[in-house]
Amino acid sequence: PETIVVSELANRMAERAADVVKSLMQMGMMVSINQPIDADTAELVIEEFGHRAVRVSDSDVEQVIDTVEDKDEDRQPRPPIITIMGHVDHGKTSLLDAIRHANVVSGEAGGITQHIGAYQVTTDGGAVLTFLDTPGHAAFTSMRARGANVTDIVVLVVAADDAVMPQTVEAINHAKAAKVPMIVAINKVDKPAADPNKVRTALLQHEVVVEQMSGDVQDVEVSAKTGQGLDQLLEAIALQAEILELRANPERAAQGAVIEAQLDVGRGPVATVLVQNGTLKRGDIFVVGEQWGKVRALINDKGERVEEAGPSVPVEVLGLNGTPEAGDVLNVVETEAQAREIADYRIQAAKDKRAAAGAAVTLDQMMAKA
Ligand code: GDP
Ligand code: MG
Repeated sequence: PETIVVSELANRMAERAADVVKSLMQMGMMVSINQPIDADTAELVIEEFGHRAVRVSDSDVEQVIDTVEDKDEDRQPRPPIITIMGHVDHGKTSLLDAIRHANVVSGEAGGITQHIGAYQVTTDGGAVLTFLDTPGHAAFTSMRARGANVTDIVVLVVAADDAVMPQTVEAINHAKAAKVPMIVAINKVDKPAADPNKVRTALLQHEVVVEQMSGDVQDVEVSAKTGQGLDQLLEAIALQAEILELRANPERAAQGAVIEAQLDVGRGPVATVLVQNGTLKRGDIFVVGEQWGKVRALINDKGERVEEAGPSVPVEVLGLNGTPEAGDVLNVVETEAQAREIADYRIQAAKDKRAAAGAAVTLDQMMAKA
């Protein structure tokens, strides 16, 4: 079972156990020094502290998955992936909707994009941006805890007629812990009570210094209601993306992350996958978490069937043998036999882990009673 006790992890990194506990708390995990955490989480913590994790897998099976790094010349620019975070009612959903609709070319088939958990827009300047349609911190943390880093840029929404609230602070902490750059969208500026400067000042207390305060975090005044500032927000994101120089190799076998999955009555298991590297094609054989399959159809965010999906493109994938979970990683492999073998191995490993965790709890309870 791939787990490690927090104090042992701290030991190996030569860090204080209390700091490790604090870092885990910032990821939304409440654990004590004596509790075990899984290898994925440990790896995140290790990165958080600036160390490098070397994972010695106990499985040859997993080695099938191509882990060769791409050569520099093979890596092409890819669109940024953006998550919108902020306090409840500050306008995350409204902003996502406004961006989506502002970008629908009138006369386009249906006029409105389909909901598949993510969508792409093109800015006036020609930049393509991928928005995750599931705002919220839980999604962000659980995806990261499962090893899927699917956010390049966080847009922090703060209502101009409110203040910096608990979930605003949480979002700031998540973005910082993940080392993801932030752009502040000061929303609801159409409201008479709006006071954007109050927001800027309040953010200072949380070490977010926006450009208007001579810092380096871009801030944009917007209204999801009137559409004011939306173009500027998109350009700010495009600019931030340029600085990040995001790249991927469209020529390799696809790797991606599940952002949503469900069992559809008519279509069977369906997963929305955000391709992170390579190109996913119809007919590809893949393993995703404990499931595997062969791509029967790919459907984009406009509801159209497509033959393939490259880096940063969200697509619905049909042809799964079972329903994966959000945060599961998808890898294209060579043969069905391999896909099946890896999936089987993972199912068994998960079982072992649960058994071990159960045993650990029992032992803890015994010790507590003694
Ligand atoms: P979320 O909880 O962050 O997703 O917030 P919502 O998008 O659901 O918005 C909460 C409320 O604020 C709703 O009643 C929206 O209509 C309203 N709202 C959102 N953005 C704006 C805005 O820019 N201006 C005004 N006046 N109202 C807004
Ligand atoms: Mg909402």
